[in-house]
Amino acid sequence: TLLDEKQMGELCLEFGYDFKKEVQINEENFLDNINFQDSEKEMKKRPPIVTIMGHVDHGKTTLLDTIRKTNVVDTEAGRITQSIGAYQVEWKNNLITFFDTPGHEAFSKMRAVGADLTDIVILVVAADDGLKPQTEEAIDHALFAKVPIIVFVNKMDKPNPNIDRILTQLSEKGVVCEEWGGKTMVIKGSALNNKGVDELLEAVIVTSEIMELKANPNRVANGITIEASMDKGEGAVADILIQSGTLALNDYILIGEYYGKVKKMVDYNRKEIKQAPPSTPVRISGINGIPKSGDKWIVTTDDKLLKELSMKRQQSTKMKKLSNFGTSFSEDNNGVKQLNVLLKADTNGSLEAIKSLLQSVDVDGAKLNLVRGAIGNISESDIDLARTSKSLVISFNLKTSIKVSDYANSMGISIKNYTIIYQIKDEIERLLKGILDPTFEERELGTVEIREIWSHTDVGKIAGCRVLTGEIKRNSLARIKRNGQLIIENVKITSLKHGKDSISSAPAGKECGFTLDNFNDFIKGDIVQIYEIVEVTHE
Ligand code: GDP
Repeated sequence: TLLDEKQMGELCLEFGYDFKKEVQINEENFLDNINFQDSEKEMKKRPPIVTIMGHVDHGKTTLLDTIRKTNVVDTEAGRITQSIGAYQVEWKNNLITFFDTPGHEAFSKMRAVGADLTDIVILVVAADDGLKPQTEEAIDHALFAKVPIIVFVNKMDKPNPNIDRILTQLSEKGVVCEEWGGKTMVIKGSALNNKGVDELLEAVIVTSEIMELKANPNRVANGITIEASMDKGEGAVADILIQSGTLALNDYILIGEYYGKVKKMVDYNRKEIKQAPPSTPVRISGINGIPKSGDKWIVTTDDKLLKELSMKRQQSTKMKKLSNFGTSFSEDNNGVKQLNVLLKADTNGSLEAIKSLLQSVDVDGAKLNLVRGAIGNISESDIDLARTSKSLVISFNLKTSIKVSDYANSMGISIKNYTIIYQIKDEIERLLKGILDPTFEERELGTVEIREIWSHTDVGKIAGCRVLTGEIKRNSLARIKRNGQLIIENVKITSLKHGKDSISSAPAGKECGFTLDNFNDFIKGDIVQIYEIVEVTHE
């Protein structure tokens, strides 16, 4: 292609045209392609959506509890209610939405199904423990998702916290604190003793203001399913998050494959509400099935259409389960093709050796992007990241558990295991060459001269010709020249005949008749070049 999507968009912008990428919208993908045109002045500030991540026992749950107990909006603060997946707190007249399943598993599962909900990640690091494998994993996930991180150094009440070591470890992972000239806010405190939590909430608000998070509250709502289940009393219930618009009681909703009418809506305190603006988590009932986590939903005013779409979506999901996805590649900001790789190795030594060997791989026009390089067995969370980032999963000298490989299978991810480092390099090189755009070349086949024209009621005009050089082949392409001038090119030769017989080719010296795909304007004396387009493989 001459221009990529971004350049075309820019051109259109410059000339004032509307740029719309063409996709075949069908009942299966239309929820992904809905594009509301909200005018800038309708857009209103919305609360940030926050996920807390970090290593086990570093204090994520304690932090969530402390935030919830001290700042929850409702007067019945602290009342234990069954979770609806997320809750909201108020801080200095600002609402903040927190997912209440801490950890990157929930975050990456959502992202694996294409649901980007989290605006800000709070990374909890225990002062006495520093960065641990799950902290690093969380960083990889957040960085890949390009979600800003705020670091909360927890357990500052414990003796001998080593802040410098933590800041160093963070910066080695690409998370550089403000003091050191980076962008990341680092707040110190104690979740258990409610120290530093106010500063943390302040940091969330400051970050969200910089991000200018906005949504249009004055239209029909759409959003994402956090979780759904069957409730004995109420039937199918879905915990959902409103991304834009305002959801109201009695709205018709299409959610994943299902639909319904919002019969009842409660907030995170189980209080019945009639309306929910952007960034609000609510539980709804009235739907005719249990959608999946990450399923998109949308409100429509046409309930007949809703039923029809829901039926079709259920059918197509059944079909889709039969096929699978497969690894792919992406493009960096400069349009260079990149192969995303998630690499796990048995020891630090082999990890470093593989990494440096991979640095020496040099394929023009394509590059390797190491989404994650770590030691230890492949986990389900690795698979989620691989799915989201469309990565190839490579393991070195490791045994993958049956559970994980089953999970990988179900996600359409294949794990490649190696025991010889150089084989990894060869494989990566081979794959990098494979992802380059194929180059196409024209291959000349011959030339013919049109000597006679016949009309046929069924096939239109037939060109009677004599092959001058080379050959003419059915299904090859024609370029017609008249007195040296180009008339048309790239038209397919749809049929080729000698007398009454269909033939597949005719050599120089022979006479034959051919028809062209949707083109009849040839005349006697036209010279036609016959050629094929062939793919050239990269060496
Ligand atoms: P999670 O696994 O990250 O959710 O960690 P938890 O919130 O369950 O906390 C793990 C342990 O650390 C618990 O025993 C907490 O009481 C303790 N803890 C959490 N925050 C602090 C803190 O600020 N100071 C101290 N000393 N302990 C804390």
